[in-house]
Amino acid sequence: DDTLSGDVQPEDIRLEASLRPRTFDEYVGQGAVVEKLKVYVAAAKSRGDALDHCLFSGPPGLGKTSLAHLIANELGVGIHVTSGPALERKGDLAGLLTNLNERDILFIDEIHRLNAAVEEYLYPAMEDFRLDITIDTGPAARAMKIDLPPFTLVGATTRTGLLTSPLRDRFQIQERLEYYEPKFLEQILDRSARILGVPMDRAASKEISTRSRGTPRIANRLLRRLRDFAQVEGNGRITYDLAHDSLSRLGVDASGLDAMDRKILLTILEKFGGGPVGVETIAASVGEQRDTIEDVYEPFLMQEGFLMRTPRGRTATLRTYQYFKKTPPPTPQG
Ligand code: ADP
Repeated sequence: DDTLSGDVQPEDIRLEASLRPRTFDEYVGQGAVVEKLKVYVAAAKSRGDALDHCLFSGPPGLGKTSLAHLIANELGVGIHVTSGPALERKGDLAGLLTNLNERDILFIDEIHRLNAAVEEYLYPAMEDFRLDITIDTGPAARAMKIDLPPFTLVGATTRTGLLTSPLRDRFQIQERLEYYEPKFLEQILDRSARILGVPMDRAASKEISTRSRGTPRIANRLLRRLRDFAQVEGNGRITYDLAHDSLSRLGVDASGLDAMDRKILLTILEKFGGGPVGVETIAASVGEQRDTIEDVYEPFLMQEGFLMRTPRGRTATLRTYQYFKKTPPPTPQG
């Protein structure tokens, strides 16, 4: 099952490291967010302070991890990378925090998946650069405080609503990343093609950019697949025709919907009469996690006008019926 929005493969991790933007200038799009961050970074730098804690939210593949890395680079500090699920015990977090240098960045991906004990342990670290630890157990137990160097916590999450409010409130900087317009994805694709050394026509990169679900990671992933097709079936160059045909063979249609997008929409149309239907029910019908539906698929389908969220559940739109060449039910009076 090779749905485009699926899990990150090891192949991606290597590729992404090589394609990751290293400076603000290389970071394409997200203009409003980038402009603000530039100011915060410059201010922290000139004061010699650690940057305030940052929380970045948005669907996977939009550049949250890249931002964390490039901010560290722009600040000239180190970055330590971990994730919510990887921090199983307080000790895991203590180990990381006590190894930080002054003003370093600690990046916690999927920060909404921290367990409660570790999360509470993080509060004084974020607020006062202090760890409260207990030595010994039972009657001999003593509380101790360990001072930490000032540092910046950068957290990434798909939705800020998944964080507890005490954790969310401790991030002074909170920014949401949006899907990319095709013109920005084109710039990203052109840069990636240059780095990968694969020649590509203008029209081809335009075509890929409109079929990448507004997501740089998907654009780069498609580019790699097209490079394969160009090498094996073409003369190595990604032309418009090659891009057009190969994308269809990869299951990406002209609207940029992938197989799971279409499955979700068809399920709503065919099994639930166009909705409204609850997200839990959709998830069970298509065999996907509810969170993945809500964080990965729905935001794009809603932005593109294929899906609406109502208090009673999700409903298909007129555009969905048109897309599948189906007759919409008659509109109710009023
Ligand atoms: P996230 O952490 O939000 O899942 P990443 O930061 O890992 O996303 O981005 C995935 C890949 O997409 C990166 O390795 C990079 O190649 C590319 N990318 C993301 N955002 C940008 C951007 N603004 N400019 C250029 N490339 C980007």
